[in-house]
Amino acid sequence: MFSFMVYFSATTVHLMHCLPSKDNIKADLSGNKVKQWNESSAVNPEELGTYPGGDVLFPNRVLRNGINFEKDRWPMGVIPFEFDGTLNKQDMEKVEEAMMEFHRVTCIRFRRRKPNDTDFISIGNNRPGCSSTDLGRSGGAQGINLETPACLSMRTILHELLHAIGFDHEHIRADRDLFVTIHWDNIQRGRKNIFMKQPERVLTSFGVTYDYNSLMHYSGKSLSSNGLPTMTAIKDPNIQLGPRLHAKFSKKDVEKIHLMYNCSEISTKNNSSDININ
Ligand SMILES: [Zn+2]
Repeated sequence: MFSFMVYFSATTVHLMHCLPSKDNIKADLSGNKVKQWNESSAVNPEELGTYPGGDVLFPNRVLRNGINFEKDRWPMGVIPFEFDGTLNKQDMEKVEEAMMEFHRVTCIRFRRRKPNDTDFISIGNNRPGCSSTDLGRSGGAQGINLETPACLSMRTILHELLHAIGFDHEHIRADRDLFVTIHWDNIQRGRKNIFMKQPERVLTSFGVTYDYNSLMHYSGKSLSSNGLPTMTAIKDPNIQLGPRLHAKFSKKDVEKIHLMYNCSEISTKNNSSDININ
């Protein structure tokens, strides 16, 4: 029995470290929609994902593994990454530009994976759509998928990188009902789970107030079945939810990154002038 358990456990760990690809994960049905997406579309391309967490493949891992946020963070805010060879030079430069944005305004530091790095992000275009496999550090290899060209805007790359460092969607935070109305009848069948709130103990907002402008806020017509809004701001239904295409971090996004990674403590170690990602 004992040897079976050891074998099972090792197999599970091995499987967890295999990155999903076109071959071993059910096709993301967002594929065609992302291909058809253009700048005049009503929603952002990262909102078209059909994975359990929208554009997050394994959103419940934190819940399943118990509440241990420290474990899910990248030590000292340093994140090793690699390109898996499926993005062209121009697209890789766009990703690096987004990483530099983190370097400019936070203590997060992306750097190329070294041979002895066991935990790292692998970035490519292996699957349809825009997605991140995990919220925060999962242990081992984890993936970010950026379908060309829709997912290669600054805001979408920053959005997926924010998932990988530990952030979930703003509209599912515990206090959202004070700020947005969810129009449940307008949501596509089978997609209501993307709007389910998470308790503060699981998805903390670090005391930062609700942010309509967060890069992690879905837009008002996201996952609409009938073209009508799925979310509106309570104080004014005309407020735009979530920033559009070329946006960078909101002020509160930056504030939350600083709080999650304790940037005031580690910024002296992660030199703020260092924006080199190599
Ligand atoms: Zn997302």
